[in-house]
Amino acid sequence: MAHSDIVIIGGAIVGSSIAYFLREEGFAGRIALIERDPQFAHAATTLSCASIRQQFSIAENIRLSQFTLGLFRDLKTRFGADADIGFREKGYLILASPAGEAVLRENHRVQAAEGADIALDDVAALERRFPWLSTEGIAASAYGRSGEGWFDAHALLSLFRNALRSRSIDFVRDSVDSIRTAGSRAVGVTLSSGATIDAGVVINAAGPQAGGIAALAGLALSVEPRKRTVFVFEARERFGDMPLIVDPSGIYVRPEGSAYITGGAEPYDTDAASDPDDFAPEWHYFEEVIWPGLAARIPAFEAIKATRAWAGHYDYNTLDQNAVIGPHPDMENFLFCNGFSGHGLQQAPAAGRAIAELVVHGAYRTIDCSAFGYERLAEGRPFRELNVI
Ligand SMILES: Cc1cc2nc3c(=O)[nH]c(=O)nc-3n(C[C@H](O)[C@H](O)[C@H](O)COP(=O)(O)OP(=O)(O)OC[C@H]3O[C@@H](n4cnc5c(N)ncnc54)[C@H](O)[C@@H]3O)c2cc1C
Repeated sequence: MAHSDIVIIGGAIVGSSIAYFLREEGFAGRIALIERDPQFAHAATTLSCASIRQQFSIAENIRLSQFTLGLFRDLKTRFGADADIGFREKGYLILASPAGEAVLRENHRVQAAEGADIALDDVAALERRFPWLSTEGIAASAYGRSGEGWFDAHALLSLFRNALRSRSIDFVRDSVDSIRTAGSRAVGVTLSSGATIDAGVVINAAGPQAGGIAALAGLALSVEPRKRTVFVFEARERFGDMPLIVDPSGIYVRPEGSAYITGGAEPYDTDAASDPDDFAPEWHYFEEVIWPGLAARIPAFEAIKATRAWAGHYDYNTLDQNAVIGPHPDMENFLFCNGFSGHGLQQAPAAGRAIAELVVHGAYRTIDCSAFGYERLAEGRPFRELNVI
């Protein structure tokens, strides 16, 4: 039987970031990073849209993404001269209908107070900024002039994974099948291979599977997989200044290389947990919902054709679409870093550092993540993020 001071379940962006920052914060003990799918074929990380924004409704979420932005700006110092994640700083453009205008303005107030560089435009200003956009049904918009855009998720994950190779992490290629507990402590994990690892601390970084992992320790966690389809399409028209656009309908679209990607507007408030093994794209969405919505907003997209699609699973927190960070109050050596609900890639570096600070120093030292604590789940007290894309 092996022993690890810290066992991290899930080795994609969240688990890798936690391991990385544990070492950065000076943790010298043994760390086992357990990953069952080391190609990350089904990880949310590699199936995501890999975009980063400041346009959240909650200050804490803005701070988490701002830390990642700082890491992007300082990538070569941290990860070496060749480090490159292809960050395209093209902004988000969030469009509000008359019904959504008050929320957009309130969100902008929160973002401005956090130092985010977001322009709040009325319709006339929006038409001047992006003349190729239809402003039908739009009352106002918010555009990230800097600090927002998209990047290569694989490249970011590789930077963290490669950095771990020289930081004596035990990479375990296996699946956690059960978690052993004794009284109010998690004491180890059992793997599919039959191997067992004793653990001082167990950290749940299992993304969309996090609810199932918590259940193995006898704990409830309101995080479940929710399937999301991303469509790739081509269009004759190119808009060099095109940001990631979020329509009031929930449809988003952004350039991706010489093509575009789009999705959203799925009935995420009403649907149930997805089958965790279902990665079949919902092609019918494109014809039924996405294409008509896109053509109405960007007339040049009247004649487009989806060429490819993929589906991934959001790590969806059904309580409030926000992360759960920190220990379980009744099992203090079992920590969560889960439930990011569609914004976890950009928040993983900061969330990983937060967990590392808790473990190493016993308290948050940089961004106070207490509001993301499990207690709110136990009390049924949502800490709701309004900008879930
Ligand atoms: C379509 C889509 C678009 C998205 N767009 C964005 C975006 O633009 N910006 C953004 O910030 N976020 C986005 N997200 C969300 C983001 O991808 C996730 O929040 C983030 O990647 C979560 O990272 P993770 O490491 O926790 O989860 P994952 O990447 O899913 O990794 C969890 C890992 O745990 C492993 N695992 C699970 N169970 C076990 C077990 N029992 N034993 C061993 N290993 C196990 C899995 O194999 C997996 O590799 C998007 C997600 C999707 C699906």
